[in-house]
Formats: sequence, structure tokens, C-alpha cells
Amino acid sequence: MCKMEVKDMSLCQRMISLGFALAIVGNISQVAVAEEGEWSSIYKDVVEHLNRDIEPNVPTADIGIYYPANLDEGFVATFSVQDLVEEVVRAKKIFAVAGVQLNLLWIKSGDIDPSYLEIQANDIATMIPGGKYANMYRNSRREQSGLSREANDAFETIIEKHPKNDRTVYLLVLQDVFMSFYEQLDERTWEIRTISTGGLSFPGYSYPTIPRRLRGVITVNRSDSKRGIVAHELGHKLINVSHEYRDVDPQHEVRADGGLMFYGTGTEIASGEDGRWHRERLHLSPYLYIETENGRRTWNADYQEGGHYYDPIYDDKSVEFDAIDEPMVDGSKK
Ligand SMILES: [Zn+2]
Repeated sequence: MCKMEVKDMSLCQRMISLGFALAIVGNISQVAVAEEGEWSSIYKDVVEHLNRDIEPNVPTADIGIYYPANLDEGFVATFSVQDLVEEVVRAKKIFAVAGVQLNLLWIKSGDIDPSYLEIQANDIATMIPGGKYANMYRNSRREQSGLSREANDAFETIIEKHPKNDRTVYLLVLQDVFMSFYEQLDERTWEIRTISTGGLSFPGYSYPTIPRRLRGVITVNRSDSKRGIVAHELGHKLINVSHEYRDVDPQHEVRADGGLMFYGTGTEIASGEDGRWHRERLHLSPYLYIETENGRRTWNADYQEGGHYYDPIYDDKSVEFDAIDEPMVDGSKK
């Protein structure tokens, strides 16, 4: 049964007519190519339909979706192409309120190396606990921890080479993406915790050394009709902030409603200093461009220092805050 809201019924019916219901039980592989590493576009009509509201002269982010054909059936039953499309529709609405449109380039299907269906995201070997004298964003830049070798290999293999790789966001569906972080147990003791993520955005503030061609990747393996996982992860990538909102600094464990960047049902992308410049930072994102009616495209300026939180492109649109002398327990590098 289609779970879209009533006002999206035309899209809902269209998706069903195009066979989205079949995708739920895994029949999507029927339209995919068999060769590993080759991708074919699927549901082009749906993509076209989703882009019907794209207008000229509005800041735009391009998004491509990779949905592997060889996912396990049990996984597909919990997260179908339709579920992902619904997440994208929700994200489009949330970002439209902030004056940004999301343009879906394509949905592609094909087989991937099965060993990449479950990956460890970050490199544990180079990870250290954050120092207590600098805030989280400054610590992230100093640590320079990055992708695990496996994640790097997976993304390098899966994301097709394109001149605009570094300006495109890729939603990549994998079955399990694990991420590790340090949890402080007492004054001098830290422990590594590994969690399974629902979505992981690999944002500049946390992965300033990610290979440029791969920097647009976001892994997704779950949908949540209340939270909007894709919108939240796009927030990490495009606003380039962690879990923070208004007067709440990012190192708190934040399960609350209000802002898009909390763990909750909030969708606000606030503006101004009181809003921690989220909307302004979004509009400065190097993933955004404006295209005129005659097709002339102008991209935002690129990061100057790899896209850390205080990258010079943000000028005064970043917040200075002190280190918080308490354990980081929320895996806030997610
Ligand atoms: Zn998050």
C-alpha cells in the first residue's frame, strides 16, 4: 500500500502504476543489469515527475540515487525504492521552505560487490578521543580521521566518474553502515563504541580529508516517516553542521523536536545568529548552483580548506563556542 500523504496521491498512483509496489518485494532486480559495477537508470518517469517543480533561478542541489539490485530480500522488505523516494519527497518540502530545491538526477540500479553491503564507515586506527580544550568542530579538524579503507573502496567503485562528482550528492543504499566513536567513561577512560547507522552523511566538518570525488556521498539504510532521515542527512551535508539548534551546542545529546539537525520530528532550518546561521550556511554550500532560464549555471564558491566547520567560505556565518567538559555520548560525529 502506498504510504504517501493524500496531497501526493497523484505521485502515489503514478508510482504504483510504474511498478513501485513490485519493488517492495525485490523485483527491482528484473530491470537491473547483471554485470557488477554497471548501473542502469530505473523509474525515469518518476524522476521526471518528482522534478516537475524545479524552477530556474532558485538555488538547487543535484542528487543521484544508487539502489543496488543485489540487496537481500529481507532488507528490501524494510527499505524499498518507494520508501527512499518518499524520503526524498519529504526532504524536497523541508528544503523548499528554506529556499533550496532538490533536483533528482536519476535512480540507478545494478549489482555491487556483496562485501560492500555491510561496511565500517570510519577509520578506527586513526581515531582518538576529542581533546577537552577545543570544541567539537576544532577537534574534528585536528583529528583528521577519515574513511575506512573499505568505505573508500566501496564508494570509489560504486560512484561513477563524472566531472561534477564533487558537486553532486549521492544517496547510496547499503544494508549496514557501522560507525565508531569514543565514549568517555570517567576522567581518564575512553571506550570505543560501534553503532549501526540509519543514515550517514560524511560531512565536511567531520571528514575534511575525504577524497574530493567521493565527498558528496550519503549512505542510507532506513526510512523513518516521523524523522525524515534523508532530510536530516542532507542537512549535515549541505549546512555542514552536527546536531545543534539555536542555543544548543553540538556536543549535547540531543533528542528533541524543533530543528532539522536534532534527533526528532523538527524540520526548521533556522536563519540568523540565533539560528546558528543554518539557512545562510545552506545557501553557501558548494553543492548548490543557480541555473537561469536559458541554462546558464553558476555554482557557489568551493570550500577553501576542505569544508571544515570554520572554512573561510562561511566567513562570519559560524558560531564560536567553548569545549563542553562532559562526555560525548551521542556519537555526535554521525
Ligand atoms: Zn545526524
